[in-house]
Amino acid sequence: MIAKVEPLTPARSLRGPFDYLLGSGHEGVGVGSMLVVPFGGRRLLGVVVDVAEESELAPERLAEPLAALEADVPAELVRLGLWVAREYVSTPARGLALVLPPGTGTGTGRRLSARRSLTATLTGAGRAALAEGSTGPLGARQRAGLEALHGGTVRVSVLARQTGCDHPSVRGLERRGLVRIEHTLEAARRPRIGGVGARTTVGELTTEQDAALAEILARMEGTDGEARNVLLQGVTGSGKTEVYLRAVAAALEQGRAAIVLVPEIALTPQTASRFIERFGDTVAVLHSRLTARERFDEWTRLRSGEARVCVGPRSAVFAPLERLGLIVVDEEHDASYKQEGDPRYDARWVAERRAAECGAVLVAGSATPRPESVRRLDRLRLSQRVDGRGLPPVEVLGMVGVSGPLHERTRDALDDVRRAAGKAIVLLNRRGWSNFLTCRTCSRVWGCPACDVSLVLHRRAGRVSCHHCGHRERVPGACPDCGSVSLSRHGMGTEQLGAELERLVFPLPVFRLDADTAADAGAAGTLERFDAAQAGVLVGTQMVAKGHDFPDVTLGVVLDADATLRFPDFRAEERTFALVAQLAGRSGRGARGGRVVVQALDPGARALRHAASHDADGFLEAELGRREALGYPPFGHLIRVVCSSVEHGPQLSAAEAVRQAIDAPEAAVLGPAPLFRLKGRERAQLVVKGQDRGAAIAAVRRAVESVAADRAHRGASYAVDVDPQ
Ligand code: ADP
Ligand code: ZN
Ligand code: ZN
Repeated sequence: MIAKVEPLTPARSLRGPFDYLLGSGHEGVGVGSMLVVPFGGRRLLGVVVDVAEESELAPERLAEPLAALEADVPAELVRLGLWVAREYVSTPARGLALVLPPGTGTGTGRRLSARRSLTATLTGAGRAALAEGSTGPLGARQRAGLEALHGGTVRVSVLARQTGCDHPSVRGLERRGLVRIEHTLEAARRPRIGGVGARTTVGELTTEQDAALAEILARMEGTDGEARNVLLQGVTGSGKTEVYLRAVAAALEQGRAAIVLVPEIALTPQTASRFIERFGDTVAVLHSRLTARERFDEWTRLRSGEARVCVGPRSAVFAPLERLGLIVVDEEHDASYKQEGDPRYDARWVAERRAAECGAVLVAGSATPRPESVRRLDRLRLSQRVDGRGLPPVEVLGMVGVSGPLHERTRDALDDVRRAAGKAIVLLNRRGWSNFLTCRTCSRVWGCPACDVSLVLHRRAGRVSCHHCGHRERVPGACPDCGSVSLSRHGMGTEQLGAELERLVFPLPVFRLDADTAADAGAAGTLERFDAAQAGVLVGTQMVAKGHDFPDVTLGVVLDADATLRFPDFRAEERTFALVAQLAGRSGRGARGGRVVVQALDPGARALRHAASHDADGFLEAELGRREALGYPPFGHLIRVVCSSVEHGPQLSAAEAVRQAIDAPEAAVLGPAPLFRLKGRERAQLVVKGQDRGAAIAAVRRAVESVAADRAHRGASYAVDVDPQ
């Protein structure tokens, strides 16, 4: 037999698969097996992507694999990984790396294996020898070890620590027949997810929940070829999670597995904990805070079938589950479903593919679904909050001519919360103290040396830093150009807003949640403390608008709500709408009701008007109309190609060359347009817009590969982003 092996190498130029001969001892090798193979004098780890009877190469030219790893991957996932590589214009190795056991990656780094512990036990002979004092010549450490084993089985590592009888010494005892060494597969330690726990036990489903669940279950039973995927559009607090839970339970009852994708778990611990509470050890959780070891253990539990439900962020779409019946994408509008690194996959698109391939039903849920999903999926609705309460009234305040960061009415609303000792959430989507610093004398602006952006002041950390590349400097005392010590700060971020709020709502505590505090304290901890507090204000970036369920929040505030609209991005409207509507959804979930205040420069902006009236349908309809007119998704597909180089020049000529090489008559190619310098690289971008997704992707792949191989453009590198965010 021949194994076709794709080597896991980061080299873009090396394209497999390569044939290896499967001799005796490799009978169990099949698609998804991981082999160590000889390759041009090196040893490489590779994945079997196919097996065949014969090779085109003569048998004497074929090498045999050196070893097969214990772990393997379901064949279905091998196909999915290769599909991702093609769909997102990446390499097979990078696509496959997504589906392999965590820690495998590309390259030949250290690999984890199933957690085993080594234990030592006295044999009968050992026991007798110890009793008779006839152990023969032993070292002092071996003697101590043997005596310690008198009390029963001990882990070898513990024995070494307690008696000095280390691993080689125990092996010596084993050779003499005095002890028995055993490998035991240790029960994996389950990682804990912090944060706010689930709150209520749910009795009866509401009529709407019941209808939605029935439809999902009907689709899970349906035969192939029917439209199976659904969008569960339910207002915030309408009980979508309960529908997912029951659909997962049904899948398990049918002997099938389920994947539940959620945005970053540290920010939405409630959802994950509800699944754990309901299904216990049947759930494996994969998230970014796990150690490599924990992640590997959870992966192994899924692969072995011990866990049948995987809850996690975007990478959980690759969970090694077989007989998949259901994939849930919770908060499907969330931007975190798009991977930033290569391959720049979109977990929602991958989930659709995977569901179709294995006959599972995909349920995407959100209060603010994407226009794409509204058009592609059949819609189920939850129009009421479960408690029958209405959504909170939203007031949009124009800020033109207002001095200071807070409108008078916003101050009043916060003051009401202070007097009532209640709770509020305040959102400002910008971290740091001030956006930028200038010199009052010579107008110097503090910018990043590697990126064409200004540095943001972080006062408590005593630094100015770049939010794109992480460059940081001490806060300047004087201007290096003119020596002036008179510097001004412009704009406000969450750090300064937090300080301002502390004065305003004193003595209520203020909790800040943004990327800076999340790095210090952990987002889950901050949410937990806010939840546990009697009263207080949670202030932060979009992190505070995720699906938290705090029943006693009575006020939601969004500052500078139309800031996102000022960026030239076709998703700006969608983002703004979702941000305001989601934050509004955090308010008024309890008996005291709630309200929402939104500050904006242009209070009449369409996204804000629709969000203020909780009119998701009106927003979606208008947005779809606009997108159709412009040929934007879902009416066309976009592919972004970014060419970059250290020197100025190559990036532009490379982009121009790619543009000319794109052979897709039906697609429009826009650009090259310059982008701001990032991480020391000059950049230019092309945007390809086409109806025929497959043709456009293939044309871009061919064009980029040919230009990248052309020595005339040696200085340039390329990043392709299909469905850019
Ligand atoms: P969503 O995900 O739509 O925002 P959740 O699933 O978080 O809503 O539900 C909000 C709250 O309502 C949760 O505390 C949940 O336990 C509770 N809940 C859900 N369904 C019901 C029900 N049928 N009866 C009573 N409470 C429910
Ligand atoms: Zn100056
Ligand atoms: Zn920078």
